[in-house]
Amino acid sequence: MTPILSLSAAELEAWLAKRDAPAYRRRQIWSWLARGTTSFASMRDVPKPLRDELAREFRATSLRAIAVSQADRGLTTKTLYELDGGHSVEAVVMRYADRSTLCISSQAGCPIGCPFCATGMFPFGRNLNAHEIVEQGVDAARLLTSEGRRLSHVVFMGMGEPMANYRAVIESVRRLSDPELLGVSPRRIVVSTSGLIPRIEQLGEEKVPVTLAISLHAARDELRDVLVPINRKYPVRDLVDAAQGYAEKTGRRVSYEWVMLAGVNDTERDAKELGALLKHRLAHVNLIPFNPVADTPYRAPDRASIRSFKEKVEAEGLNVTVRDTRGREADAACGQLHERVMRSRQPVGV
Ligand code: SAH
Ligand code: SF4
Repeated sequence: MTPILSLSAAELEAWLAKRDAPAYRRRQIWSWLARGTTSFASMRDVPKPLRDELAREFRATSLRAIAVSQADRGLTTKTLYELDGGHSVEAVVMRYADRSTLCISSQAGCPIGCPFCATGMFPFGRNLNAHEIVEQGVDAARLLTSEGRRLSHVVFMGMGEPMANYRAVIESVRRLSDPELLGVSPRRIVVSTSGLIPRIEQLGEEKVPVTLAISLHAARDELRDVLVPINRKYPVRDLVDAAQGYAEKTGRRVSYEWVMLAGVNDTERDAKELGALLKHRLAHVNLIPFNPVADTPYRAPDRASIRSFKEKVEAEGLNVTVRDTRGREADAACGQLHERVMRSRQPVGV
C-alpha cells in the first residue's frame, strides 16, 4: 500500500478529485496526520466511505518502530525505524523547557565514513525518500502531542549526509515547514553537513532559510582529511568560503560543529587554527564532547580540557558554546542505537 505522505498536496488532491471529494479534504487528512493520527478510520470529519477508501489504498506511514530507548529521565526518546525494504534509521526527540527538538535521519547509513562516527561504521544503505524523512517528523509530533508538547525544532543530525540526498532533503524541509503539515519554521531547522560545497551553494539559492551547520572538526586540511574524508575533495578553506557565501546570501549565521577528540583536535594549536579560519565570519562554534563509539581509536576529553579549549577559542574572538550531551546513557549520539541493534541483532523492545 502507498504511504500517504509519498503523495504531494497536488497528487492527493487529484486522487480526491477522482472520487468527487473536495480539495479541502486533503488539508483535513494532513491535519489529522500532523496531530499523530495513524488510522484513517478515526479521521472523524472525513466522510466514512472516503475514510474506507483511504484505508484500502494508503498507509498513514511507511515507518515501523522496531526499538525505542529513553534517556535523561524520559526527556530523550530515541526510536529506530525499519524502512520499506529492510534498512533502518533512527530519530531522537529531545525535550527542553522551552522547545522540543527532533534529530532526524536522511540516509540509511552514510557514504562519507568519518572514523569517529557510529553511522559511518556500517556499509551505506540508501537515500531516504522525502516522505520517509517527513514521517519521522510526523511520528515525533504524535509523541509530543500526546504529552501536550509541540515539535518546534528539527536538526538533520541523525544518520546520513543530508547534502548527499539533496532533493529529498529540500522537499522534506518544505513539508516539515508547511503550516498545513508540521509548521516548523525553516529557521528552526538545522541542516548539518560534512561539507559538499556545490550543494551548499545550491542551498543558498533555494529560498528556504534553514540554519546551516558545518561539521568542521579540524581547521587544517591534513587533520580534516582524516576526520572528515570528504575534505580531500572539498578542502576546508573553500568550505568555509562557501558557508560564508550562504551566511551572506541568507543573513543566517552558520554553526560550526567541532566534535572534541582528546589529544586529536583539542590542543592550543587547534584553537589558534580555528580562530584564524573563522575570524570575521558570521559564525558560531559548537563544541560537541565526543560520544564514545566502540572500535574507534578516539576518546572524549575530560571536562577541564573541554573548558580550557573553549576558553582558548573564545580568546580568538569567536562565539562558542559547549553542546549538551543529550541521550548519552541511551546510546547517545545519533547512529548508536542502530549500531547496538545491528551488533546484537536483537530488537530492544518497543
Ligand atoms: N552527516 C552530517 C549530519 C549527521 S552527523 C554531518 O556530519 O554533519 C551530526 C553531527 O554529529 C556531526 O557534526 C557529526 O560530526 C557529529 N557526530 C558524529 N558522531 C559523533 C560522536 N560519536 N560523538 C559526537 N558527535 C558525533
Ligand atoms: Fe556521515 Fe556525518 Fe557520520 Fe561523517 S559524521 S559519517 S558525514 S553521518
